Amino acid sequence: MGRAIRFRLRASAKRTLQELDRLLDDAYGAPEADLDNKADPLDEAVYMVLSFQTDLDRFRSVWDELRAAFPAWDSLAQAPLGRVVKTLRVGGLQEQKARTIKKLLKATKQETGSYSLDVLRDMEDDEAERFLTRLPGLSWKAARCVLLYSLGRDAFPVDGNTFRIFKRAGVLGRGSVYRRRGLHDGLQDAVEASRRKPFHINLVVDGQGTCLPRRPLCSSCPARSICPMCGVPADITSSARGDRSIDSCAVTVSRKSVRA
Ligand code: SF4
Repeated sequence: MGRAIRFRLRASAKRTLQELDRLLDDAYGAPEADLDNKADPLDEAVYMVLSFQTDLDRFRSVWDELRAAFPAWDSLAQAPLGRVVKTLRVGGLQEQKARTIKKLLKATKQETGSYSLDVLRDMEDDEAERFLTRLPGLSWKAARCVLLYSLGRDAFPVDGNTFRIFKRAGVLGRGSVYRRRGLHDGLQDAVEASRRKPFHINLVVDGQGTCLPRRPLCSSCPARSICPMCGVPADITSSARGDRSIDSCAVTVSRKSVRA
């Protein structure tokens, strides 16, 4: 990700963001268990790689298959690539994901001396985030998911669901560019620390089940009263749909490498 350019929401966009938070929370109530994020930071990092370009149900199911086949990370690290690829097939991009996970495990072992990211627990947020983004396959979004869901930090990951809903609901302009560090930092700053986790959970729930990339179900969306794109899915421009190169949990798209 490039050098951070300062980004700050206008007052009206911030009001929209706060109203969106309220509406989604009233409707969904932040059902954290539904997302199945992991308490262990290395588990969560691998889970993020599995989430690349697939939906929640599929990568949850691939996670179960992966852990059944490789209950310990050292067994996966030592397994033939082909066996790992076969296990990941249901989620798609299995070869790239298998290579990425093996590289991630190898780098983790080199950096920490074990297949564990528990060293992060003693680091400040910035240091932990830098550590994570130096590991193979982990973007700023993935790093902030680990910080938020495994380490209990007040991070706000901007994943594909969040970005798409923010653009459609008018929090972000239609020309907003996902791969700008400043945008990720600016949105994190705009969300009150205590609201970051529940808001992110609700955005993922809405993005996975209602504000779908191609055919959003506006009539049942809790944000329909404030969303300028409500009810006009056929007219949604490609930019307002959200960048189609970004899936629910992805940052970069390359069929040669996976960076979640
Ligand atoms: S009203 Fe429609 S376009 Fe707007 S956030 Fe909801 S589902 Fe998405």
